[in-house]
Amino acid sequence: MKRRGLNGWQSLISDGEKCNMISMKQVQCLDCEKIFENEVEMNMLLDMQKHYLADHNEIITGVDEAGKVAWMIEFTKRWNAN
Ligand SMILES: [Zn+2]
Repeated sequence: MKRRGLNGWQSLISDGEKCNMISMKQVQCLDCEKIFENEVEMNMLLDMQKHYLADHNEIITGVDEAGKVAWMIEFTKRWNAN
């Protein structure tokens, strides 16, 4: 690995911040083709919740606790994949 000077580290840090600041993540709805984009996991979950209420109401009302856990695991996997 190359030795970095102070400038190197500074640009590394600002690159990292840039990444964190504007890294839009994309996660596809688990039950249709709709793609959600957000920087914040919780905000995406809230958008998805609205979408499920509107378009997949039968899934929300029909799902049991195990189904909710499975959904959350799959969502987290997709969130972390990009
Ligand atoms: Zn959907």
